[in-house]
Amino acid sequence: MRELTTVIKLIMLERKDIFLSILFGFLAGMGAVSLFANSGYLISMAAINPPLYVLTTSIALLKLFSATRAASKYGERYFSHRATFTMLSNLRVHFFEKLEPLAPRIFHRFRSGDLLSRIVGDVESLQNFFLRVYYPPIVMMIVFLSTIAFTTFFSVHVAVTLLVGLVLTGFVIPAWFALKQYKIMSQLREKRGVVSTEATEFFYGFRDLKLYQKLDTQEKNVRTTADQYVKEQRRDSIHELYSTSIIQMISLSVSWFVLGLGAYLVGTGELEGVFLAMLVMISLTVFENATPMAIFPAYYEDSRRAATRLFSVINDESENKGVVEEELLTKELQEKDPISINMNNISFSYPGEARKTLSEINIDIPSGTKTAIVGPSGSGKSTLIQLLLKFYDEYDGDIVVNGSTLAQVRKESVWKATNTVLQSNHFFYGTIRDNLLLARDTVTDEEMKQALEMVDLNEFSLDDKVIEKGGNLSGGEKQRLAIARAILKGSRLWLLDEPTSSVDFVTEKKIYSHLFDLGKEDTVVLISHRLTGLEQMDQIIVMEHGRVVETGTYDELMERKGYFYQLKEIEKSVLM
Ligand code: ATP
Repeated sequence: MRELTTVIKLIMLERKDIFLSILFGFLAGMGAVSLFANSGYLISMAAINPPLYVLTTSIALLKLFSATRAASKYGERYFSHRATFTMLSNLRVHFFEKLEPLAPRIFHRFRSGDLLSRIVGDVESLQNFFLRVYYPPIVMMIVFLSTIAFTTFFSVHVAVTLLVGLVLTGFVIPAWFALKQYKIMSQLREKRGVVSTEATEFFYGFRDLKLYQKLDTQEKNVRTTADQYVKEQRRDSIHELYSTSIIQMISLSVSWFVLGLGAYLVGTGELEGVFLAMLVMISLTVFENATPMAIFPAYYEDSRRAATRLFSVINDESENKGVVEEELLTKELQEKDPISINMNNISFSYPGEARKTLSEINIDIPSGTKTAIVGPSGSGKSTLIQLLLKFYDEYDGDIVVNGSTLAQVRKESVWKATNTVLQSNHFFYGTIRDNLLLARDTVTDEEMKQALEMVDLNEFSLDDKVIEKGGNLSGGEKQRLAIARAILKGSRLWLLDEPTSSVDFVTEKKIYSHLFDLGKEDTVVLISHRLTGLEQMDQIIVMEHGRVVETGTYDELMERKGYFYQLKEIEKSVLM
């Protein structure tokens, strides 16, 4: 039950709807029992020619009970579903609010398909918690106890029989099935996660799998996991049907027993014959309320597992520690000031990795200066930018930004103060305008056109369509659009991670000339593989194997004839 605490708390926010669901559930249950009891009584009375007013009253009551039953059933459905959907919406919001601060680290722990299956599938499974686990037993108990109390006026023996039936169908059989369900340890949820993960990988990697002729192998994997999922579903359904059938069988047996017992009591004169049909009808109807108890164990176990899987994503203590700490931060970066950066003795490993990605990094970037970071692939250049953007907080050493320790500055404030172009940038389905508006809501069409011109994308109109992930743009166009977005942001720290690696040399030169013009007062950090054009930088930081191996201006580094000089020589020989 501990796993379901959050779900229960969210349900309890809908107290009014819970009360109304139970009230209408009770009225619908009692309406059904009264309707059938009255029918039994009416048929028996009709046989012994009673005064007309008895029959008329009974017929009027019949209509009243049937109307009550129909209206109450509607009310019960309406309020219980309203409570459920409100709870689901609250649950989704609650989950997203907790999940969002954990990105991007969360992807170290979960594959995207698995995450998707939890966020969509497990949240959806929890809709059954209120509808099938939380309130039906309460309604069943009240209806049963009220019916048994009513029955005692006619026959205590029949009342006791109903009570035994209640204990069997409402508690003993469901408990037995719950035990069985627990032992079966249904893997349905886990299997759904695996199918989702495999299918997501299959679709993401479709093109590469096709190119390497490995489509069949991966398809086989998806099929195997899908078959296992279907098998699991079948097993669950059989179990559920089995449980429903047993409960129905017991309910019918109890009704047969009531008939036999009633007939015997009429024979001994302990029960008036005219009430016999009524008691049998009561027994037949009241057990309708016990049928939902057949699926109670399955849905309880299902909800418990769904909640466990779902909340294990966001309840990781070590990750939440960082989120709580982040919420307490109050320091802001002034986005209108150029920013200075000092990295003091930074060492860092990615979560779960033993290998050090950065070792004892010391960097000083005064405000308003232009710094290039160069070095071979995998030397840790992008990681530096990720630390500056606070994507990861757990490193040794200290990063100081504008005199404040970065760890004390709010993430949102850091992001607001930077114009960032990463190696891969996301583009949303929509138009060029929609994607540029991401930079700032107040950007005008004129500003957007100017930015497009600066990155040499003036052949695009703002209304041109962009498909998912920018699939209809070339690599270089995507990079230029990302730069245009950064230009429109208008902040004072530029973090550019190989922003023009797919852009031709002439266009690249033109873009840089605009960028350096725009950001002449700003702090610019540029990661670059190309070593040409770095003469204008105030400093060049050379990295290798996660360490800074050289720092200086272009001329200083060339004069020193060290690592940068050698890289430059290699580049020259390759280009010649
Ligand atoms: P490139 O020039 O190829 O972009 P880089 O110098 O920017 O390389 P980084 O991306 O910072 O290098 O990567 C540094 C090291 O960290 C690499 O060895 C890489 O394998 C590792 N690394 C990068 N991202 C992760 C991650 N999310 N989890 C674990 N290791 C990572």
